[in-house]
Amino acid sequence: MALKDYYQILGVDRNASKEEIKKAYRRLAKEWHPDVNPDPKAEEKFKEINEAYYVLSDEEKRRQYDQLLKSGDEKGYRDFMEYIQEFLESIWQGMRRTPKPKRGQDIRLRLELSLEEAYLGTEKLVEYERWIDCPQCGAKGYVGELVKEPCSACEGTGRRVSGIFSFPRPCSVCKGRGYIVKNPCPVCAGRGRVAKHSTVKVNIPPGTDEGDVLKVIGMGHQGERGGEPGDLYLRISLKPHPIFKKVGKDLHTEKLISFPLAVLGGTTKIKTLKGEELEIFIQPGTECGSTKTIPGMGFSAEGNLVITFRIEVPKNPSGKLKKLLTELAKELKEEGVEKPPTLLDNLKKLLS
Ligand SMILES: [Zn+2]
Ligand SMILES: [Zn+2]
Repeated sequence: MALKDYYQILGVDRNASKEEIKKAYRRLAKEWHPDVNPDPKAEEKFKEINEAYYVLSDEEKRRQYDQLLKSGDEKGYRDFMEYIQEFLESIWQGMRRTPKPKRGQDIRLRLELSLEEAYLGTEKLVEYERWIDCPQCGAKGYVGELVKEPCSACEGTGRRVSGIFSFPRPCSVCKGRGYIVKNPCPVCAGRGRVAKHSTVKVNIPPGTDEGDVLKVIGMGHQGERGGEPGDLYLRISLKPHPIFKKVGKDLHTEKLISFPLAVLGGTTKIKTLKGEELEIFIQPGTECGSTKTIPGMGFSAEGNLVITFRIEVPKNPSGKLKKLLTELAKELKEEGVEKPPTLLDNLKKLLS
């Protein structure tokens, strides 16, 4: 590895003062900033200038470097480079000025479906916002001719010493560009990107389940600088259903049946999730809370339909029904029907 002459790179004398080195660095960094200098070698040159300044602006590093320069010790230089490389890498990452196309980010949304929609499949319109290149300025961030002004915070170098870092880092005021845009695009406020309200039609396959994720290719955020768009991911969540409760692959439901039907048995009808009518057989002597399981009629073909029976109690029964029920009570030897407790009853209860 041949030793780079950092003094030559900055165009200063070997015994240049700190101030001279700083001045030379500023002048060259401004001149070779890849955003300003169209020379294809500008980025490489800009890096070199920064590397030279990184070493020569630090007393200890400059001393080590001077020794290596004097001795021409290539192995020593390799070690030295390795030592500063990690830090330099982190700087180059932060200053990539001729950025490559960047893939758009993925968008993750939650999509609520009714139980029927998930079970039968459907088409859904999903509305959301995605970032796209600003149509007004074509992602440039300004309209027409760029009007710029050197950034005063970094004196146009795009780099600035701040905080604990003694080495210049990308300037936060101008984002490392070295200049301030004086005519930012009014639509995107200079960002070059805008949020666009988008609608996408999504096909929901039958049997879609809670937690399933549907992928819509290319409907995430638009890529930057011609990069590919991201994808849209929709995580399914199922809305509560007024009649059916999904338990794993099973569907649970309740069915109200009349007292005579529960006692005598017979048939009744229930509506399935598909909307079809299903005739079911009620065993004689069906108790309130007892269940009936119908295989293959659950949320999927592997699931069951589990019906829990409740006995219907008529509120405000008509005269005729009341008469029949009173007779029934007599037949069942139900003596307490329609008799509120008497004072004597209450007293007995208290004393017992
Ligand atoms: Zn700046
Ligand atoms: Zn714009």
